[in-house]
Amino acid sequence: MEVFLGIPAADGTGIGTAFVIPDPVKRAIPQHHINIDQINRGWSRFEAAVQTVTLSLSEHLDSLSKTSERDRAQREVFETYILMLEDPVFKQEVRDFYENQLFNIEYTVQFKAEEYAAKLRQAGNYYLSERAQDITDVFGRVLDEMLDIHPFDINSVPDGSVILATSLSSADTIILSKRKIAGLALSEGGVSSHVVILARNYGIPTVVGLEEISKKVRNGETVIIDGKDAEILVSPDRNTIEEYKAKIREEYQRKLSLRSFLSKPAVTKDGTRFKLYANIGTPEEAEIALAEGADGIGLFRTEFLYMAQSGASLNAAARSFSEQTQFEAYKSVLQIMGDKPVTIRTLDAGGDKLINSVDLPAIEEKNPLMGLRAVRLSLEYPNILKTQLRALYRASVYGNLEIMFPLITSVDQVKECLELVNVVKQELTSEKIPFQEDTPVGIMIETAAAALISDCLSKVSDFFSLGTNDLTQYTLGIDRENQHVSGLYNEFSLAVLRLIEMTVRSAKENNIPLAVCGEMAGRQDSVMVLAGMGIRNLSMSPKLISSTKELLSRFTIAELEAISAKHLNNL
Ligand code: PEP
Ligand code: MG
Repeated sequence: MEVFLGIPAADGTGIGTAFVIPDPVKRAIPQHHINIDQINRGWSRFEAAVQTVTLSLSEHLDSLSKTSERDRAQREVFETYILMLEDPVFKQEVRDFYENQLFNIEYTVQFKAEEYAAKLRQAGNYYLSERAQDITDVFGRVLDEMLDIHPFDINSVPDGSVILATSLSSADTIILSKRKIAGLALSEGGVSSHVVILARNYGIPTVVGLEEISKKVRNGETVIIDGKDAEILVSPDRNTIEEYKAKIREEYQRKLSLRSFLSKPAVTKDGTRFKLYANIGTPEEAEIALAEGADGIGLFRTEFLYMAQSGASLNAAARSFSEQTQFEAYKSVLQIMGDKPVTIRTLDAGGDKLINSVDLPAIEEKNPLMGLRAVRLSLEYPNILKTQLRALYRASVYGNLEIMFPLITSVDQVKECLELVNVVKQELTSEKIPFQEDTPVGIMIETAAAALISDCLSKVSDFFSLGTNDLTQYTLGIDRENQHVSGLYNEFSLAVLRLIEMTVRSAKENNIPLAVCGEMAGRQDSVMVLAGMGIRNLSMSPKLISSTKELLSRFTIAELEAISAKHLNNL
């Protein structure tokens, strides 16, 4: 038996079969000249690759529903791809270039496809620039076929796997959540990285910071994963397996014992009421939130909604930015939650949550977490924000909606967002589309800048929600995704606690509601500190709601205040 130690990320124990997800292979296109007598062989390879790709696209097309809205978008993409592959004019251009320049076929195809895409992009027309991405994608598939590169299909992961990988995208994690995954062992990632947040939401035991783990374990080996102690046990003996099976049974028993808290309100030993909300990333998770006894949704991360839809074609994800698709998702969450409040956050894309969209150019940034992320991106591309706001306001009549802007750093930024809110309201009014006029509009306090000016921000916001993940990251200058500095990522740092304290004071003095929706809101040690600081609204992974109720029921407010005071006095 071999044991590997990492960083604890998502609690829970799992036993399963190792499944190694290979690192993505970068497409390297060879470039060289060929002889005339090699032309036909190269051309046949190109035609064979086109045929294989066309066939696989047609098969996928056949598997899609002809009636569903989401499938309709994908159908359009695949139909366009097939037309492009069959386009005789483009094919002749490739052939002419190939025969005249005598470059190898792979380079020829890449060169001509890029040239074609660039022309379309330069046309400056939305529709044509969308086609440019299609060209790049579809001929990329042809090149992969010729170079024998087979991108890993996340859907091929079997149930019961313990997944070992260097890293995982949020989109892949969402797809995996639909499977019965025994655990996740990653080389990269920090405790509040988004993959980890998602794994926690889906109850997948996770360990990160396991150096080169995907090279150390072979497919098919039995693996035990212990999320709490951050251990991976490979090829354990029978006794060890029995020991961990007992642990899994214990965890299950604890879950059962917490069920008595499901329908109870969250109250301390001395009767102070707390509101415990759920953080979700997809509409389906609203059902889980309700079943876990959430008082509402405290944070709907809408960027995950887009990521979850990437499916078989990246471009299909781009199209799902449509107002109607968003409207339906928001409406569904509001309807599921009934009269309970639902806080939906506008797109927090960028940084580590990249989204492929025709509305956004591919943005190359040296330091994306400091870059065009969240509200900055939305204000740079206001059409995206406007579409989202229209969908939100249209959905507002179906429940108790609150709208929230992420990564705010100035009053002007909020004002700019509110101007767009007004434009959208006016548009809907003139189109006679009903909406909830007094939908509260609030902001996330997740930068030191926002906390420091929270008194001013409270004048332009209906509520605050503290995003302690980013607040910690930006205050301490510690990349929350980076396993090399994760030991320094400390939410209990006095600097972070003082910023929280300052925000709580501003909210209180200006009489606006405040919640915490970062990971601190659901962890037992930090819940006590936040509660002792006067915070009464906590939003967390739905799976943590019962255990948080149980925790609060064991303490009085005075006891919780004493715990906070210790931290705030740096004792
Ligand atoms: C946060 O930063 O604490 C937060 C809740 O937002 P996210 O984790 O999505 O960045
Ligand atoms: Mg954040």
